[in-house]
Amino acid sequence: MSISTDAALAASAFQDVFGAAPSGVWSAPGRVNLIGEHTDYNEGFVLPFAIDRAAAVAIRRRDDNDDHTARLCSSYGDQQIVTVDLAALTQETMSGWSAYPLGVVWVMRQMGIDIGGFDLYLHSTVPSGAGLSSSAAIECAVATAFNDLESAGLTLNELVLVGQRAENEVVGAPTGILDQSASLLSTSGHAVFLDCRTQESKLVPLDLSTAGLLILVIDTNVSHAHATGGYSDRRASCELGAEVLGVRSLRDVAASELPETAGLLDEETFRRVRHIVTENQRVLDTVEALDQGGPTTIGDLLTASHLSMRDDFEISCPELDLAVESALMNGALGARMTGGGFGGSAIALIQISEENAVREAVVSAFAKAGYTAPDIFAVSPAAGACRIL
Ligand code: ADP
Ligand code: MG
Repeated sequence: MSISTDAALAASAFQDVFGAAPSGVWSAPGRVNLIGEHTDYNEGFVLPFAIDRAAAVAIRRRDDNDDHTARLCSSYGDQQIVTVDLAALTQETMSGWSAYPLGVVWVMRQMGIDIGGFDLYLHSTVPSGAGLSSSAAIECAVATAFNDLESAGLTLNELVLVGQRAENEVVGAPTGILDQSASLLSTSGHAVFLDCRTQESKLVPLDLSTAGLLILVIDTNVSHAHATGGYSDRRASCELGAEVLGVRSLRDVAASELPETAGLLDEETFRRVRHIVTENQRVLDTVEALDQGGPTTIGDLLTASHLSMRDDFEISCPELDLAVESALMNGALGARMTGGGFGGSAIALIQISEENAVREAVVSAFAKAGYTAPDIFAVSPAAGACRIL
């Protein structure tokens, strides 16, 4: 289904639930991180691209300025309407799925943007908890919508920070700017090379189909939980590493300096640091490879990234490892887990002609191992957040 079909679905469901037409529909995509994992909060480099699956939000502002009631409904889950008084909203009172859209509204209101009462209907095709950032898709769609509706004039980079603050301060997940940047800054057929220290970004051509390639997402259906999982432990290890090495962040350690850091860190912290430092270098190498040779030349970098996450950063899991191994054994040019880890999805870069063979091999490997069947689908590099209707 296309993004515009999903937007139309959101608009008609809005009409059914709230009994009127929305003022508009805004859409923001999920993302796949091609390479650069856990480097974002280390002020390093990442290379995500937006995918052709998105969160669409249909919104109508209430006419009465004194009415601060917000009503929210999503096509996912129990479809109950959540009703809140925006004037009484605090970080503590927001919970469940509505913390994502309301978190964004809360942050924008904190910034002095006078968002009044509204009705909102969310329809997302980004699978939740699969490592494709369904959460940032919601945040970015809502932030783009209110930026438009309130003529707030925030730049894309400012909207990135709005989404990040909602995720950090309201949802309580200590994530960086990767997800929101991909969702807001992408253009079709490109990846976004992002420097997480300066927030500078550059679009890098990722023309898969011309090269006869596609990227398969293999969603292991092993659910991850950023707010409670090992994510914060890894973050703490990186902070410890930076402190011991006397640098502002691990971004400031070059790959060539790694041997001399080994004696200064305990064995586990050294491996955590080594992942971040080598991963930053792999992102730079991937950007160069894409520029010079195109997507057929990046496979080994993707696979090297997976091995580093499996062995040094230890954020993979048996299902992700099996997805990567079975894709590689069946002709993938490269494969790696993507997203925060501990579950979620892997990606495999494959020849278009091998799609069925790789799909079948992965499905049968999972069945043989007794794992829940994975969901497998192709993604293509899509455009970032925008108004659809
Ligand atoms: P990810 O961003 O990797 O998909 P997160 O744990 O960060 O995983 O975000 C998933 C959460 O986002 C869900 O638990 C739910 O609260 C919310 N969410 C995702 N998709 C939807 C949706 N379609 N409707 C309502 N809430 C959603
Ligand atoms: Mg998320």
